[in-house]
Amino acid sequence: MQIPVIALKIDVDTYVGTRDGVPHLLEILERFGIRATFYFSMGPDNSGKAIRRIFTRKGFLKKMLRTRAPSVYGLRTLLYGTLLPAPMIAESFPGILKRAESTGHEVGIHCWDHVKWHDYLPWLPKPVTAMELGQASALFEEILGHRTRTTAAPGWTVSPDSLEIQDAMSLDYCSDSRGTTPFFPVMDGRRFRTIQIPTTWPTMDELLGEGGITAENINDQYLTLLKPGLNVHTIHAELEGKSLAPLFTDLLERLLARGARFMTLAEAAEEFGRNAADAPLAMGEIAGRAGRVAIQG
Ligand SMILES: [Zn+2]
Repeated sequence: MQIPVIALKIDVDTYVGTRDGVPHLLEILERFGIRATFYFSMGPDNSGKAIRRIFTRKGFLKKMLRTRAPSVYGLRTLLYGTLLPAPMIAESFPGILKRAESTGHEVGIHCWDHVKWHDYLPWLPKPVTAMELGQASALFEEILGHRTRTTAAPGWTVSPDSLEIQDAMSLDYCSDSRGTTPFFPVMDGRRFRTIQIPTTWPTMDELLGEGGITAENINDQYLTLLKPGLNVHTIHAELEGKSLAPLFTDLLERLLARGARFMTLAEAAEEFGRNAADAPLAMGEIAGRAGRVAIQG
């Protein structure tokens, strides 16, 4: 029988998540000898602007209160880009990106401006979308001395334009979607050639508070999701690297006790992407998350 494999995808959305969450996660992963894939937001932290989702996105306020966003993110982060200027993330912490890579992890691009991509992608003209990834790629190369091999879209938000631009970047793989197995995306009738390694598990913030799931039983729930073959789990530097760190540490202990093997997403793409088939990709709703995400059909 195939043993369970877990690829940890770490999304880094904010200035504070980069500064505090990433070093904490590096320490936790080192303790367990686990290598993972970090996706960094490279440009400005405009988190404060996300507040307007209270008015534009059904369920956003409820979700914010349920996950205690103000205490998780801190007041300053909730004002960046509005009352406080948006700080530049990767430029402020090049050493943290370098440390993640030099300690054996894979590093890729999450975005340039997380809030802009997440909230406006469907309405952005193609050159603007290309510029978002272009600026992020240029700074990534300046800091790490090589091009990125992978990107992962903020909030699992994609468009045919974003997939086309990723194809043009000749990436090894992308991780923009929710689904079950690696696949080549077909969106709006167009087939794209960059393989998708989808997130297969719900995130901790999606599960907590839904259907009787609490901090006490959430990791039991994850163990029931563990399947032979590839499992992809997305965590956030702002959550698992901070307030959810004890829960995340407990999860790692229990997964290792079950015999799970950890690898980077690049290794997962290599090992599990070989016989990937085409599959439809469309934006849709999932439990526990306000707004829509790209789902493998
Ligand atoms: Zn993100």
